[in-house]
Amino acid sequence: MHWADVLADKLIKEDKKHILATGITPSGPIHIGNMREVLTTDAVYRSVINKGGKAELIYIADDFDNLRKVYPFLPKTYEKYVGMPLSEIPCPCSKHKSYADHYLFAFLDSLKELGINPKVYRANEMYKSGMYEESIQTALDNTDKIKKIIEKISKRQLPKNWIPFNILCEQCKKITSAKAELYEFPYVEYSCECGYEGKVDIRKGGVGKLPWRVDWPARWKILGVTYEPFGKDHGAAGGTHETGVAISKEIYNYSPPQYTMYEFIMLKGKGAMHSSKGTALSAEEMLKMTPPEVLRFLLMNNQPNKHIQFDPGMGLLNLVDEYDQLERVYFKEEEEIKGMKDLEKTYELSQPYDIPKKIPFQLPYRHLVTLVQIGNNWKDVKKILLRTNQIPKGISKDNEKHLEQRSEHAIYWLKNFAPDMVKFEVKKQLPKISLEKIQINYLKILLEKINDINWTAEEIHNKIYEISQIEKFPIKIAFKTIYQIILGREKGPRAGFFLSNLDKDFVIKRIKEAVK
Ligand SMILES: [Zn+2]
Ligand SMILES: [Zn+2]
Repeated sequence: MHWADVLADKLIKEDKKHILATGITPSGPIHIGNMREVLTTDAVYRSVINKGGKAELIYIADDFDNLRKVYPFLPKTYEKYVGMPLSEIPCPCSKHKSYADHYLFAFLDSLKELGINPKVYRANEMYKSGMYEESIQTALDNTDKIKKIIEKISKRQLPKNWIPFNILCEQCKKITSAKAELYEFPYVEYSCECGYEGKVDIRKGGVGKLPWRVDWPARWKILGVTYEPFGKDHGAAGGTHETGVAISKEIYNYSPPQYTMYEFIMLKGKGAMHSSKGTALSAEEMLKMTPPEVLRFLLMNNQPNKHIQFDPGMGLLNLVDEYDQLERVYFKEEEEIKGMKDLEKTYELSQPYDIPKKIPFQLPYRHLVTLVQIGNNWKDVKKILLRTNQIPKGISKDNEKHLEQRSEHAIYWLKNFAPDMVKFEVKKQLPKISLEKIQINYLKILLEKINDINWTAEEIHNKIYEISQIEKFPIKIAFKTIYQIILGREKGPRAGFFLSNLDKDFVIKRIKEAVK
């Protein structure tokens, strides 16, 4: 059984509406580890619905968390905002309402492309609107108990005057520097590192927030969460999940949600991804280079507790091929893949939106990667595809859109991540190269022989081999010569296929120029 079904079965044992939650702190470009969290939750959500259960997918943006430091991608002037909640800091590009919005909206757009449309909650709004009022009071009334739980589980000592409430200083607007002096319902008196001394009324929303270890279980109850996955960093012994479970049961009298602890996604050649170190690949970038169904496939095809190594180089092409193969198997156009489990469910969960009723038109992705380098945009590519009969004249709108979208991903990948070996440029003029005499002789023969063949990949390919056999001309040099006169380098995409996509007259003219 697919892992999402296993989790869904566990959930629907309880016959009620399930709230599946996922959350992140929008403190920077959102990394692909977070993508795993959201996609894992989405998969379980879809499976619950599929089985006839009631469910809602929600997404909580922890935008009342403070800015921790000036990240490498921020201007130095952000130093003054460190410690302030993300929802209260200006956006770096000045087009958004806040710092949090700046990073959050881009991520939500990516989610839409992946077919994920959760109900979005913003922590700052939840606090300001009073949704936390009761939880805050309960926490403060149970300060000693909570302190004991955290100290016992996390094995760390909390300060003497610690209370489970971080006050937002009214003067410096930081949520990290005020110290509580006295709590007497409904007031907390505090003094701040900035020198300010004041008093807040906890019945008023937005005057502070629960610390994360308390905030998490509090909102399980507030929102009625029944399932929420988390990364293994939260799941360590003594970690935030363990304290969250204890606080949920003992303080909030709420049965903690079911969960999945997921593994990180590793970037090939680099370590685990964390957005706070500049090494991360952002979720948006990953989606720009990977077709959405393929990105979903990567996660659906792997148990959440399994490491995923994502290779943005050649590995990406293999991943797309793997997906396309799964699609052919799903539609019974190919034999089942050995060793692959739950392929039907995996394919269905990989679809951002509707599951296609018949197989979408497939064009090998590697061909597309070649074609987008010959044409400049989808229009050009479509012309080539039509001329070479690689797509039918009456191709459906859906199929065309699918190919167009894929070519956009291929273009982004080529520009930003592809290794040099797959990149090339068709030179508009004969490149400045010096050919040896035998190469020129070869081109003369080639010119003569290709004039009256059909301009298809197969015929060109066969002709090149035939000439080299008859003339005893090394095939390697034959290819090299062709690439040299067209690309100005010694290697290129498969010659027959490559040439067939170029205009025949263009190729003939180029050979004539080269033998002059
Ligand atoms: Zn912005
Ligand atoms: Zn202050």
